[in-house]
Amino acid sequence: MIFGKIKKDEKIIKFNVKIQCVNCNKQVPGGMKSGENYFNTHEFNKELEKFQKTYLCGICRDKKRTNN
Ligand SMILES: [Zn+2]
Repeated sequence: MIFGKIKKDEKIIKFNVKIQCVNCNKQVPGGMKSGENYFNTHEFNKELEKFQKTYLCGICRDKKRTNN
C-alpha cells in the first residue's frame, strides 16, 4: 500500500512495517511504498506512528461504517 506522497517521476522506496488492526489485532502484510523525498522525514515518522495507532483492517472498517 502507498503511504504518504509519491510525486510523479519520484523514486519509490519500499519498506516493511508491522501493522496491526487496532480493533481485532489482525496483522496486516506490511509491504509499504513511499516517495524518496518523503521517506524517513520527521513528518513521515509522525504520520507512520499515527497510522499504526489508528489502523483498521477492511473488515473492522466496514463494521464501523455500518454502525455509523
Ligand atoms: Zn480488524
